[in-house]
Amino acid sequence: MDIFHDNPMLAGVRQMLGAFARQQIRPIAAHHDREESMPWALMKMAQGFGMTQTAVVDGRKALTGKDEDEGDAKKPKSQARLGVAGSEELAYGCAGICLAIGGSGLAASPVARMGTEEQKQEFRRLLKGEDEHGHIKVAAMALSEPATGSDISGLATTARPDGDHFVIDGHKQWITNGASAAVYVVWANTDPSAGRAGVRGFLVARGTPGLVPGRKETKLGIRASETAQVHFEGCRVHKDMMLGIGQSSEGLGDTKKMLDSTRPMVGAQAVGIARAAFDYLVERVQGGTMHGTPLAHHQRVAFELAEMEMEIQAARALVHKAAWMADHHLDNVRMASIAKAYGAKVAQDVTSRALTLLGEEALEPGHPVEKWYRDAKIYDIFEGTGQIQRRIIARSIFGVNPT
Ligand SMILES: Cc1cc2nc3c(=O)[nH]c(=O)nc-3n(C[C@H](O)[C@H](O)[C@H](O)COP(=O)(O)OP(=O)(O)OC[C@H]3O[C@@H](n4cnc5c(N)ncnc54)[C@H](O)[C@@H]3O)c2cc1C
Repeated sequence: MDIFHDNPMLAGVRQMLGAFARQQIRPIAAHHDREESMPWALMKMAQGFGMTQTAVVDGRKALTGKDEDEGDAKKPKSQARLGVAGSEELAYGCAGICLAIGGSGLAASPVARMGTEEQKQEFRRLLKGEDEHGHIKVAAMALSEPATGSDISGLATTARPDGDHFVIDGHKQWITNGASAAVYVVWANTDPSAGRAGVRGFLVARGTPGLVPGRKETKLGIRASETAQVHFEGCRVHKDMMLGIGQSSEGLGDTKKMLDSTRPMVGAQAVGIARAAFDYLVERVQGGTMHGTPLAHHQRVAFELAEMEMEIQAARALVHKAAWMADHHLDNVRMASIAKAYGAKVAQDVTSRALTLLGEEALEPGHPVEKWYRDAKIYDIFEGTGQIQRRIIARSIFGVNPT
């Protein structure tokens, strides 16, 4: 039974994206992994199906064509559950392509949470149409720096006030869509003497003098998603483009709130990778024999798959709980970290066990299990490493940061 059997809208979206993953994503996954190229044609097709780059700002309307619960902020929503259901399905096709389709959501998330109506309109305007290569336009969220990944309190990028503008200087690294983005949400300190409280997000359009997209990184997995450096060299941005205008800002804390809404989706992508490897194994085991006996009759093999199924079901339940809490306006900090960390752990465990079961054939470059194994590792690193998630969980239990 589908986890969404009592919610036809969510079940329908999940079914549609599952079919899209199998029919459109999976056949091109190995090519884009090998070439480390973004699947621009498929991204355009996905946009046509409602997977728009502004989906997070537009809300549920993007995929279903309907506005959700307008006028009643307290009513439960379904956007977070839509996000996790869709993320699992797309990553089942290919995690890198899933991120290529949905990576703009990282930038859209703070715009949706902290942007004024004008900033949301500007974000939509900058993502309209196609670029000079005929590609759809994408967005990037630039927080990490060469010396600042987990410990974002060490942010060195500054935004110096200058009349009606801020002047941004600094270097960002490991930025999804960093080389191609039409718009960036960049995090910088407006008042280094205030420390964490001075950190703000800014909307910066491609082509703004002083914004220099940098080197594209080569990486182990999710290679269909672009990751690059971005440099800011005296980049002047109007003060109206600072996020959080007219709201009480928690400075650096604003970036953490943004991650609470994206972490369940990242956990769901990891579940998608694990399920891809699991389904591949089930098919192989059903069709195979060892010493004349069907493989499925061998306890050693069958127990391995039973163990994987337990882990995958548990990880999926956790990401859905974290998303359900977000949809019901409940504080999900602990659950978002649990879901993300456990999803990453399961993806690594299942793909690693799958490699062991299949043996040397799965070590061949281009073998699907070899690719899923590489893709899975990144889920333990980005959006907060496994250790950082454990710190958040421990702090929520004991009220102190473990040292
Ligand atoms: C594919 C990819 C895409 C990315 N996309 C983006 C993006 O779009 N935007 C963006 O801003 N960033 C992005 N990142 C950056 C990502 O968020 C960082 O890589 C991540 O936060 C980890 O930072 P780091 O790599 O500098 O590792 P470090 O912070 O240097 O950590 C190194 C090791 O030390 C451990 N560690 C660090 N601090 C502690 C602690 N206090 N307690 C225990 N252990 C600790 C970590 O867990 C890790 O094992 C991306 C990264 C990747 C790989």
